[in-house]
Amino acid sequence: MARINDSYLKLKAGYLFPEIGRRVKNFAEANPNAKIIRLGIGDVTRPLAPAVLEAFHQAVDDLGRGESFHGYGPEQGYDFLINVIIDKVYKPLGVSLKSSEVFISDGSKCDTANILDIFDLGNKVALGDPVYPVYNDTNVMVGRSGEADEKGYYEGLVYMPCLEENGFLPELPQEQVDLIYLCFPNNPTGTVASKAELKKWVDFALEKNALILFDAAYEAFITEADIPRSIFEIPGAEKCSIEFRSFSKTSGFTGVRCALTVIPDGVFGTNNNGEKIQLNKLWNRRQSTKFNGVSYPVQKAAAAVYSEEGWKQVKETIDYYMENARIICEGLKQAGLSVYGGVNAPYIWLKTPQGLSSWDFFDKLLNECHVVGTPGSGFGPSGEGYFRLSAFGDRENIQEAVTRIKTKFT
Ligand SMILES: *Cc1c(COP(=O)(O)O)cnc(C)c1O
Repeated sequence: MARINDSYLKLKAGYLFPEIGRRVKNFAEANPNAKIIRLGIGDVTRPLAPAVLEAFHQAVDDLGRGESFHGYGPEQGYDFLINVIIDKVYKPLGVSLKSSEVFISDGSKCDTANILDIFDLGNKVALGDPVYPVYNDTNVMVGRSGEADEKGYYEGLVYMPCLEENGFLPELPQEQVDLIYLCFPNNPTGTVASKAELKKWVDFALEKNALILFDAAYEAFITEADIPRSIFEIPGAEKCSIEFRSFSKTSGFTGVRCALTVIPDGVFGTNNNGEKIQLNKLWNRRQSTKFNGVSYPVQKAAAAVYSEEGWKQVKETIDYYMENARIICEGLKQAGLSVYGGVNAPYIWLKTPQGLSSWDFFDKLLNECHVVGTPGSGFGPSGEGYFRLSAFGDRENIQEAVTRIKTKFT
């Protein structure tokens, strides 16, 4: 019989969202007239921008005609999309990239997971706590960790607690680490890093020969000036960083699927003999072998995000979500809650009142306000005592949810 990868058995069963679903279902059955408002999941709710949809349609029609049919595309993505990204996304930030440094993919979830393919298991990995669970679980799956302790920390991984006391910013690890996951604007805390803060990490990585895996999935939600949108805005990052970006939250592509990963030519790892090897070349080899590219219509639709008309429309939707975030933050503050995030990210991270646990607050919010959020403890041990609300949703629902919370908590 086939032997399984035992590392999978170390994982805590996908616990968070099924448990939320179970509790909401029980509540709904017991209270059939309650109008439940869901601010729990991290998924967009607004439709695709018209200009994006039009490009999508046109590209589908291209496939129906012999002269404009497309079969397999380049595994790395079409130049028409890569060049738009280089010109419209990176150039305005003062970052110049070659087209071979950008890889188009079907998602940042898979890229942040698959990147582990090109690294040795002996690397020490540092990650935030709380954290986007993919970074943690994929390291467990490949066999880089031991078992989880009773708190939920896996042996062998280096956790960087992000708490109210440190402004939810991870602190530089004391021990030697080789791979460092950073996510700004952060999911779940909504925290951003200033240029000075990111420079600290880049300098650290250069000094310690570590690699930064930078997840910029929420960069489009930054509203404050001077907050870096890319790690490559920091001098030296092009020697020590890989950046992941996604069309998912930026332009409502969670169901369409398109993302990109940037690996500059100047980023190296070492082989068994201590020789320097370009990571770009390894990733290119990995993608060419295990991936066959994103569909042509999806890449056409993605390119339209950065057309003049497309971006105007996409930006309107982002502004809509960020106004939701502002309404939530303001309302919760008026209710006397301690509120973080929500200014440069579509997530609001709040401290549970009266010392309630994350799950007790979840139940209280569900039972008393009929509002669903996400318990912070689901993102890691340091998320205990915190709670995430998402700004994705319809304005009326958001306003209604805030009104209910204010009524119950003030
Ligand atoms: C939503 C999200 C992504 C995007 O994942 P896709 O696979 O591109 O949809 C990446 N990182 C974080 C932290 C996210 O929350």
